[in-house]
Amino acid sequence: MSAIKSVSGLLDAGLIQEAAGLDAVAAKYAISITPAVLALIDPSDPDDRIARQYVPTIAELDTTPDERADPIGDLTHAPVEGIVHRYPDRVLLKAVHVCPVYCRFCFRREMVGPQGLGTLSAAELDAAIAYIAAHAEIWEVILTGGDPLVLSPRRLRTIMEKLATIDHVKVLRFHTRVPVVEPERVDHAMVDALKASGKITYLAVHANHPRELTPVARAGFDRLIAGGIMLISQTVLLRGVNDDVETLATLMRTFVENRIRPYYLHHPDLAPGTRHFRVSIEEGQALVGALRGRISGLCQPTYVLDIPGGHGKADIGSAAISGTDGCFTVRDWQGGAHAYPPK
Ligand SMILES: *Cc1c(COP(=O)(O)O)cnc(C)c1O
Ligand code: SF4
Repeated sequence: MSAIKSVSGLLDAGLIQEAAGLDAVAAKYAISITPAVLALIDPSDPDDRIARQYVPTIAELDTTPDERADPIGDLTHAPVEGIVHRYPDRVLLKAVHVCPVYCRFCFRREMVGPQGLGTLSAAELDAAIAYIAAHAEIWEVILTGGDPLVLSPRRLRTIMEKLATIDHVKVLRFHTRVPVVEPERVDHAMVDALKASGKITYLAVHANHPRELTPVARAGFDRLIAGGIMLISQTVLLRGVNDDVETLATLMRTFVENRIRPYYLHHPDLAPGTRHFRVSIEEGQALVGALRGRISGLCQPTYVLDIPGGHGKADIGSAAISGTDGCFTVRDWQGGAHAYPPK
């Protein structure tokens, strides 16, 4: 079985009832639904939380004035093709702009897919690696895209061998959806290809709903961990997918039960045609506030907003404390207000 990549494929699979208007969506934003994702969808449920992430809708043609093609300002900090250098000690290395699935809320939706920025040529990749080698302040290289795990283990190994020669780089981090949406790719050859001699590898698993963490995905996490790779999580807060305490609590606990340390809960970015996915910041703060009391500290993600224009990420979960001149009001997980220091 292969991935569904067309409107007619969606019809054949029973994921949509009619094609009206969707050709215009598909012409702008690529479609891909892998067999592993398809197996999770209940086509009889019009509000299915997995389908909502991957099945296109005509709502994607509605844009708002504050949405933008480059919502987090990648292009404002791109010194060479494939590199985004926003913070001094770390860079993004985007070798590929293809993904195993195309998420309807994607913050890089204008850059990924067959019409996107493509894959770096050998010369561009060498220039990107040379940039990293020439900047001694770069401590960490974050491989993202697109999804770096769509590359073959052989291609990944070539990149890792080059990074291994750069002494000042100590940590390599992958951001990927592959372990969840195409878990069969995470075999021993892939795990080996994610490691570089003398470096530590972290891998951020992107998952938004507990149902995505299937037994097959869990077997892949086990292979990654057995291979010495540290796992962290990444979730986008999405209306109609995970915008309730119950779902978020279960998701974060399931990460921890699988030795994945919750890392970021992203406020949805202002990507074009994604208004139907956005929750308000107040709603997001109330949700993370409620998580605080309900589940273990090990299960708490940091709620972050990527500031439009390339200003980086900000922790926006800290609505718990406000005040000035040494007098603060702190809110507890049930909403109670307390003076600090106590009066
Ligand atoms: C998100 C991001 C990072 C990583 O940030 P962390 O807070 O270290 O996870 C690095 N560079 C860019 C350009 C980013 O957008
Ligand atoms: S896998 Fe990541 S980069 Fe690719 S479409 Fe989904 S959110 Fe965007």
